[in-house]
Amino acid sequence: MKIEEKVSLCAIKNHKESHIKLDEEACKRCRTKVCIIACPAHLYTIEPETGKLQVDHSGCLECGTCLIICPLKAVTWQYPEPGFGIYSRYG
Ligand code: SF4
Repeated sequence: MKIEEKVSLCAIKNHKESHIKLDEEACKRCRTKVCIIACPAHLYTIEPETGKLQVDHSGCLECGTCLIICPLKAVTWQYPEPGFGIYSRYG
């Protein structure tokens, strides 16, 4: 089964608070911004007006890649509160 097919079996219930926090000062200093490429859900983007790195937690697959790959340790990441986050549509 391809990863896209596996992901299609899941749904996400979002909490209003993001479970991913970024250290803005560290992100400003970061040259690679590797999270933009590494996140399989493509949730990291640059805000066009400000040039600020941002993350949209609402599609997070909870893989933890951004937490591990950030060279400046600028990502603080916790699992969403119980009852929120990614879950299987089929139990
Ligand atoms: Fe993207 Fe995975 Fe980080 Fe979620 S945990 S934002 S899916 S890299």
